[in-house]
Amino acid sequence: MANYRTENPATGEVEKTFNELDRDGAIAAVERAHTAYTQWREAAPEQRAQVLRRTADLYDERADELARTIAVEMGKPLKEALGEVQLAGSIYRWYADHGPYLLEEEQLDAQGAIRSVVRKEPVGVLLGVMPWNYPYYQVARFAAPNLMLGNTILLKHAGICAASSSLIEQVLDQAGLVDGAYINLFASSSLIPDVIADPRVQGVSLTGSEAAGASVAEAAGKNLTKSVLELGGSDPMLVLDAADVGAMARTAARARLSNCGQACNSPKRMFVADDIYDEFVDRLTAEVEQATVGDPTDETTRVGPMSSTSARDDLHEQVQDAVDHGATVRTGGSPLDRPGAFYAPTVLTDLTPDMRAWSEELFGPVVMVHRMTDVDEALEIANDSSFGLSGSVWSDDPEKAAGVAARLDVGMVYVNEHGTTLPGLPFGGVKRSGYGRELARDGMAEFVNRKLVRVA
Ligand code: NDP
Repeated sequence: MANYRTENPATGEVEKTFNELDRDGAIAAVERAHTAYTQWREAAPEQRAQVLRRTADLYDERADELARTIAVEMGKPLKEALGEVQLAGSIYRWYADHGPYLLEEEQLDAQGAIRSVVRKEPVGVLLGVMPWNYPYYQVARFAAPNLMLGNTILLKHAGICAASSSLIEQVLDQAGLVDGAYINLFASSSLIPDVIADPRVQGVSLTGSEAAGASVAEAAGKNLTKSVLELGGSDPMLVLDAADVGAMARTAARARLSNCGQACNSPKRMFVADDIYDEFVDRLTAEVEQATVGDPTDETTRVGPMSSTSARDDLHEQVQDAVDHGATVRTGGSPLDRPGAFYAPTVLTDLTPDMRAWSEELFGPVVMVHRMTDVDEALEIANDSSFGLSGSVWSDDPEKAAGVAARLDVGMVYVNEHGTTLPGLPFGGVKRSGYGRELARDGMAEFVNRKLVRVA
């Protein structure tokens, strides 16, 4: 089957296929992106900002079309899809508003010279390898800061996101971007090492699985090319206390079921204080059972299908393994008996270290809840993970929670919220969750030449 295709995960039907580039086509794209770089880098920062601002406006103007496209191709419920489109637009706008001053040169102490400054210059053509779970947002947080810098972009999106990927390219073109400054690379993963090996490619950023990250980092390392990786996570959420356990359970269920649980920073492992644990699990289970599962293009749907039947089957193997080792299924625990890649929203308790779910990422609508009798012990379990993306701590006493949050070994911690993503907040993890940062001013600090200019 064609890798680049629109296959509706709610029905299993292939709606469209797209042509793939061969090696020559991929290298020709590098050439085009490099030619564009020689022009785009000369554009004044305010001129680049204008293109990003117009892109943001187009995300607003074309929101319905953009949202429907991802609802059909990767199963995101419409309301969430509209939220993603709005978030992606806000990222382009943020860099349009903040980019010009972030690019201003930094004056250093002249130290005996007439002047010493650091200029922020682009580095060249960049390759982005992006996943299907947030097709617009993942691209925006890589493309916006780098286009603002004057870099140009080759974008290898996930095969199942060919339609949204085409729209992203089209919108940037409509916004007036220089031809070739953003090119979709509909190419097989096996060609990615060749693209990275091209000396005109000066950096690569990947969001996705550990396996894909390792493969891209290996090719980047061989070629001494800078890389940024945003990989998986198994984020802990510690609930120390809650005056309103029902509200806490509702918030937790919403956070975990968002995007059908397919988010790197979803709160996959919940640790709940002993004295509220039983009530919390009952209420959480009720919330999860009430979530309407169905066609993502239906406005009442809260949980859509997973992105593919193979992703659903992988998840079910992990759940089944947990059950085989003694986990309790409070609700769900199996694929839904209907066409498409649907998995029943699931709550698991009584988890133990011999289960795959204890250490692996569960990329789907499955909540794992641990009873927390001791905060130090919960922190130890939370931190005993190969991942370190984000985490949250919840309490009616925010300062107490902040003290606990500071002890999580992750790239981002939140108190009384989980995973808030805004253009002005940096995003990224530690350990096997990856390296480098996206968004905010940090997003413009990865693929930049901080060039020292000293005039004596
Ligand atoms: P992948 O990592 O396989 O896909 C993400 C992107 O990487 C896609 O564009 C994919 O292309 C590409 N890719 C895959 N393998 C390679 C490679 N060897 N070299 C270059 N590019 C590659 O994710 P999956 O869709 O298979 O999901 C598997 C797991 O990854 C999930 O269960 C989850 O744990 C994690 N994941 C994490 C995400 C995050 O947000 N951090 C997002 C998505 C997945 P193609 O589609 O053509 O294969």
